[in-house]
Amino acid sequence: MPTRVLIEGGWVFAGEGDGPFEILEDAVVAVEGERIAYVGPAAGLPADWAPTRRIDARGKAVLPGFVNAHTHHAMTLLRGYADDVPLMPWLREHIWPAEENLTGDDVYWGTLLAIAESLQAGVTTFADMYFFMDRVAQAVLETGVRAHLSRGLIGVAPGSDRALEEGRELVATFQGAGEGRIRCALAPHAPYTCPPEFVRQVLAAAEKLACPIHTHLAETKAEIEEIRAQYGKSPIRHFADLGVFEHETLAAHCVHLESEDIEVLARHGVRVAHNPISNCKLASGIAPVTELLEAGVTVGLASDGAASTNHLDMFEEMRLAANLQKVSRMDARALPAWQTLRMATVGGARALGFDKLGCLAPGYLADIVILDLNAPHLWPRHDLTSLVVYSAKAADVDTVLVHGRVLVDGGELLTIDMERVEHEVQARAERLARAARRG
Ligand SMILES: [Zn+2]
Repeated sequence: MPTRVLIEGGWVFAGEGDGPFEILEDAVVAVEGERIAYVGPAAGLPADWAPTRRIDARGKAVLPGFVNAHTHHAMTLLRGYADDVPLMPWLREHIWPAEENLTGDDVYWGTLLAIAESLQAGVTTFADMYFFMDRVAQAVLETGVRAHLSRGLIGVAPGSDRALEEGRELVATFQGAGEGRIRCALAPHAPYTCPPEFVRQVLAAAEKLACPIHTHLAETKAEIEEIRAQYGKSPIRHFADLGVFEHETLAAHCVHLESEDIEVLARHGVRVAHNPISNCKLASGIAPVTELLEAGVTVGLASDGAASTNHLDMFEEMRLAANLQKVSRMDARALPAWQTLRMATVGGARALGFDKLGCLAPGYLADIVILDLNAPHLWPRHDLTSLVVYSAKAADVDTVLVHGRVLVDGGELLTIDMERVEHEVQARAERLARAARRG
């Protein structure tokens, strides 16, 4: 018999789709196996539906799990390693030299740290692009989270053929693993690191494997200028002309867009991962999220790697995303709280191509976050969506379920040994920094 979890007495953020949430007071969420069986008043639950576990959610908000739509999880090892540096020198002088010394074990432990931090902040799914991705898949399978995984491919680097082979192997081995918790993609890193011939090779492999594409696009002004000088068009137009968007594509950043670029993204159904803090901290710019949403583009919210963002907290990303749209458009109505929360949940789920994920409704996958509202910064209760988006913090996350299984219980991680993780990452981070300094 499948497990049956009954979440009782909370304010449930219910309702499918893109609109404002339907917030049900004193409602229940019934989970059977990996899916939500029922959402509504307790009286509506069949009398013979006996739970194997009850969770008391009185005084708490019950939300869909957050989806971090673009990250490089193992970069937690480089958190705080090179801050206050612009993107290109940051990559070329600091990050890439440090990454040269990374081992598969480093990536495994760095990813476990990121999963721990994410879970305790209510993130149930993430899209990761990095290397040693078989070790990331191992961490995902062991901890019980959900992920969209791809081996980052840099066409201009030596060993790009081997990297593509590893990317293929990842897809062949892990597509659909963990009862469908893992989706795999191929990841040509960006137009400025992948020449056309290499992109075509990646697309041919994606065609064969019938897998999606994950990439970085239009992140900085420097990239726009470089691609224009080289190919006479914008990065979006360039990738469209290469045929990238004939494949299901997840494009991170999309900061510098012409209106024609937005049309191209909308027409091809390209999904965008918006990284507000990373785009601020690396001085990349403000993505036109409002225009993208108006054009019908699916947009998910993301942290990017912790080496650029310094944390993996979707509450902070939500707050900055909403505030950036308001101030850049000089319009306080831009990106309202409910739309921001949709972007952080179902928007991300759609961006990553997970079906029936990101809403609290029957038939949806049971990825659920229970937020404790009993804190001074969460009184009084006027509008609960505003409270969650503008006032709540990661530390308010109490319980987290992924695929119907409780992974965080009363704030405690059930599938990760944090003491071991802390010890491993500190030793490994010190070794990496020493090796990079020696060059
Ligand atoms: Zn990235």
